[in-house]
Amino acid sequence: MWTRRQVLAQIGLAAAAVHTLDPHELCCVMPAHAQTADKDLFELKKVGDGVYAAIAAPRYKVNCNAAVIMTNDGVVVVDSHSKPSAARALYNEIQSITKQPIRKIINTHFHWDHWQGNEVYANANPGVEVVASERTKENLTRPDAGVGGVPYIEKQLAALPGEMAKLKADIQKETDPAKKANLESNLQQAEEFQKELQNMKPALPTRTVATTTTLREGGREIQLHVLGRAHTNGDLFIYLPKEKVVATGDALIDWMPFMNDGYPAEWPETLTELEKLGFDHIIPGHGEVRPKAQLAFFRGYFDEMKTKVGDQLAAKYEAGFSKYPLGRYRDRVGTNVEAVYQKVVKKA
Ligand SMILES: [Zn+2]
Ligand SMILES: [Zn+2]
Repeated sequence: MWTRRQVLAQIGLAAAAVHTLDPHELCCVMPAHAQTADKDLFELKKVGDGVYAAIAAPRYKVNCNAAVIMTNDGVVVVDSHSKPSAARALYNEIQSITKQPIRKIINTHFHWDHWQGNEVYANANPGVEVVASERTKENLTRPDAGVGGVPYIEKQLAALPGEMAKLKADIQKETDPAKKANLESNLQQAEEFQKELQNMKPALPTRTVATTTTLREGGREIQLHVLGRAHTNGDLFIYLPKEKVVATGDALIDWMPFMNDGYPAEWPETLTELEKLGFDHIIPGHGEVRPKAQLAFFRGYFDEMKTKVGDQLAAKYEAGFSKYPLGRYRDRVGTNVEAVYQKVVKKA
C-alpha cells in the first residue's frame, strides 16, 4: 500500500505539509482498540437478514454511518468513516459476528468522512476491492473537488493546529465543568485525528462503475446505482432488492443536507430516480435508519426552498427592488438571505 506522500507524488501534487512516518504509529502494528468498539463510535443495528447499519455516534470529527452486508463468502461494507481507528472498531465488531473476510468496500462519494478509513480493510485483506463511481475516483485525487480526497488530507492537517489552539484557548476560558470536559475531549480527539491523518495510507478505488451495475456477492444481489448528480457529482446508491434496503451516502440523510459540493438543481430529480426503486429502509450517510417516506420529506425541502423564500417576500419588495436592469430582486434575494443568515442570524 502507498503512503499518503506516495499517492500525492503519484498524482503530481506537492505535499503542503510532509510528515515523517513513525513505524510505531502505523495502524497495522497497533493492537486492536477494544475500547473504541463501543457506543462512543457506533451502534450496529440490524436492518434486514444479514444487513446491518453501523449508526455513527456524534464525535468531534464526524464519522459517517456504514452499511454492513453479509454474504455467503465474505462481507461488503459501505463507507469507512473519517479515520482508520473508527473503521478498525467496526472491523473488529464485524469480526465478532463473522470470521469471513471483508471482500469489498464501497464508497458512496469522496467526502473525507466516508473514505478515510478504507486502509483498515485493505490492510486486513490485501485482495479487498474498493468500489466507487468513476467520478468519485477522480474526485479522490483532484485538488479542487471539495471536502474530501487525498489533497484534502493536507488541508485538514493544515487546519488542525489552528483548531487545536482555539480549543486550548476555549478550555482556558471555560468555567462550566461539563463544557470544559467536553472541550478537553474534543482536543484529545483532534490530537488523535492529527496523528491518524499524518500516518494515513490512502486506499483508493480499485474498481469503478460508470452506470448501474449488479454485483452477485456470495448469494446476495447488490445493485450499485448511478442516478445523477446530487450531494456530489459521483453519488453511488447501494440497493438490495431482495431485502428492500438502500444505502444512500449523504444524498439522503437524516440531518440537514450539506450542499457545498452539491447540485441542488438536480438533487431532487436524482432522488426521484431513487424513489422508483422498491425499498422500505434507508441507511443514510448520517442519522438513523429511516423509512422510504424520508425521501419525500428530504426532497420537499429542496423544492420548497427554490420558491418559498423569494415568493414570500416578493409581494412587498419585488417591485420596489426591480426598477433597474441590474441588481433586481430575483437576482439577489437568494444571496442576500444567505448573507443575512450567516452574518446576522447565526451570530446573534
Ligand atoms: Zn458525510
Ligand atoms: Zn458528504
